[in-house]
Formats: sequence, C-alpha cells, structure tokens
Amino acid sequence: MDKGFIHVYTGPGKGKTTAAIGLGLRAAGAGLKVHMIQFMKGRRYSELDALEKLNNFTFSQHGRDEFVSKEKPEQIDIDLAKEGFECAKSLMNRKKYDMIILDEINVAVDFKLISVEHLIKLIEKKPENLELVLTGRYANSEIVRIADVVTEMLEIKHPYQQGVEARKGIDY
Ligand code: ATP
Ligand code: MG
Repeated sequence: MDKGFIHVYTGPGKGKTTAAIGLGLRAAGAGLKVHMIQFMKGRRYSELDALEKLNNFTFSQHGRDEFVSKEKPEQIDIDLAKEGFECAKSLMNRKKYDMIILDEINVAVDFKLISVEHLIKLIEKKPENLELVLTGRYANSEIVRIADVVTEMLEIKHPYQQGVEARKGIDY
C-alpha cells in the first residue's frame, strides 16, 4: 500500500465502531493485516466472536466491563487505557500491521485517560503506509484537524430514545 490515511469516526449517532470494523473487514479481505485495540471496553462484544474466525484481523481489549466516570475515573481505568496506548505504540513500531483501529480512543482522550498530546505524538510517528482508524464520540478538534478522513455520525433517531434496550448482535 502507498500512503496510509488517518480516519476518524465520531459523533453521537450509531455506527462508529461498526464502521471501523467494516473498514477493517474490507482491508482483511484485501489481504491486509488489521489489529483493533479497544479502549474502555472489557465486555465480550459479538463482533469479537466473528473476528476470531479471521486470521488477519486480530484484536485486544484494554478496559473493564464497567461504566467509566468522566469526572472521577478509577485508577484501573487510567492504567488500562495506558496499557492500550502502549500496545498501540509497540504495534506501530513493529510495522507488522497495515491497519490499526483504536476503538473509543476519542472517548479515552475526552475522559483524560490519555492525553491529547500523547495521541498527537503517536499519530506523528505513524509509519507512512499504515492506515490508522480512530473511533469514539467527542473527537478532539486537533485530532480532527490532522486526520485525513473524518466522518461524524449524526443521531437523527435511535431506538434508545424510545427506551429500547441494547440488543445482542446489533448493539453488542
Ligand atoms: P456501534 O458499536 O453500534 O457501531 P457506536 O460505536 O457508534 O455504535 P458508541 O458511541 O461507541 O456507539 O456507543 C456504544 C454503545 O451504545 C453501542 O452498543 C451502540 O450500539 C450504542 N449506541 C450508539 N449510538 C447510540 C445512541 N445514539 N443512543 C444510544 N445508544 C447508542
Ligand atoms: Mg463505539
């Protein structure tokens, strides 16, 4: 691949993580090697059971299956986010992957589990041909500025507004 781009999926509407996984699936189909790092997630989402069947789309989770408090995150939440970030750095340096997805990293930055300066530094060190995908609400404006492809999911309707709970296979 020639020059890899920086993608951002942000906004309040549904579809950010699934869009990133869709992109990863397409890349994997084209023979590219993909790794997804999930921040602030510890729950076994159904997509992981599907991805496990692919040999060039791997993933790791760095979070708890708990709600993280924006005002007062637990130390463990900070530690796990840092661990995910270190994992991203080391995978990037090893240049083994064609695409790396940092799922919910925008939220981890917004909640100050990871500093935006650190993320900018990481992006600046991106290997030329790596495709880097960042997801999550509240993308930092500086990240949006340096990214190449930015899509904002707009919430027009969501069943949640009608009190419908998250559904397995659709929302998790
Ligand atoms: P998905 O994982 O379905 O692609 P997402 O990544 O855009 O959604 P997040 O903001 O990461 O969504 O939210 C996490 C969870 O909340 C997911 O289970 C998602 O389906 C659900 N969700 C997404 N958008 C909304 C919304 N507008 N209202 C309520 N729940 C939502
Ligand atoms: Mg998401």
